[in-house]
Amino acid sequence: MHGIWIQDQHVTFRTDVPDPQSATGEARVRVLKAGICNTDLELLRGYYPFTGILGHEFVGVVESDGEWYGRRVCGEINVACGVCSQCRAGRPTHCERRTTLGIHSRHGAFANYLTLPIENLQAVPDSVTDDEAVFTEPLAASVEILEQVHLRPSDTVVVLGDGKLGLLCAQVMATTGCNLLAIGKHSAKLSLLEARDIRTALITEAPQLRADVVVECTGHASGFALACQFLRPRGTLVLKSTYAESLTVDMSRLVVDEVTLIGSRCGPFPPALDLLARKRVDVTSLIQARYPLKDGVLALEKAAQPGRLKVILDIAE
Ligand SMILES: [Zn+2]
Ligand SMILES: [Zn+2]
Repeated sequence: MHGIWIQDQHVTFRTDVPDPQSATGEARVRVLKAGICNTDLELLRGYYPFTGILGHEFVGVVESDGEWYGRRVCGEINVACGVCSQCRAGRPTHCERRTTLGIHSRHGAFANYLTLPIENLQAVPDSVTDDEAVFTEPLAASVEILEQVHLRPSDTVVVLGDGKLGLLCAQVMATTGCNLLAIGKHSAKLSLLEARDIRTALITEAPQLRADVVVECTGHASGFALACQFLRPRGTLVLKSTYAESLTVDMSRLVVDEVTLIGSRCGPFPPALDLLARKRVDVTSLIQARYPLKDGVLALEKAAQPGRLKVILDIAE
């Protein structure tokens, strides 16, 4: 089959990748569409050494026999062992032996087929389009913030960063009715939020506010210090960005201000699919370009250009 292969931080389009066969308890999924995520770009920059088929944001159709046959699905990307201490404690996304679709020890979604355990599959409601379903994984990562932080209606929340994840996080935070301000660098992207009645500000014109919660989604190491500037003492700083470089932090500032730091990664799929089905968030305006799988290397180059939003790979066409 065809696939986008990463090796030594280099990607190629290959026509000879082995067709995956599902193991017991796994489903074989024909990929319809996949989304390029910043994590894919960070893997190219050396965030984590991975060799194999890239990609973890997808919608597809189950082609292996069984009760899931023919159903349209997306899938949780962390595959847990089920027996380690983290799994037994109910933290499967932190499984000590986990593999992660297109990121760690498991071939990903930029290919004609992928395999995932049945328990990782989530049926996509009919009211959710293929384009929308591709956003389930990053939207779930945004929903994870609400699993971790209790927001009061009186809380002031700043979402910092107007990239793909920032635009999703801002929309998810807005569902809580908190006092929200999204801060970014690009008025065209912020206008997507303004269209949904979310207050925004350019970083150069942002008010000197001290928020109860700041969600850092800039995708850059420099975003950390910036996020601290918008946080009140004893505030909560939620970190969503991952990047290849390491960070120098003024830890004393965090100590003196008694800041609560929360790392936030993957989240629950069902509430994300529910938000999509009920049109509580708009994801399709984030789609900037689409390419066939054979042009996946070009698509990754385009997605890596500054200011790019979501690039979709149309795989089953
Ligand atoms: Zn992602
Ligand atoms: Zn485990």
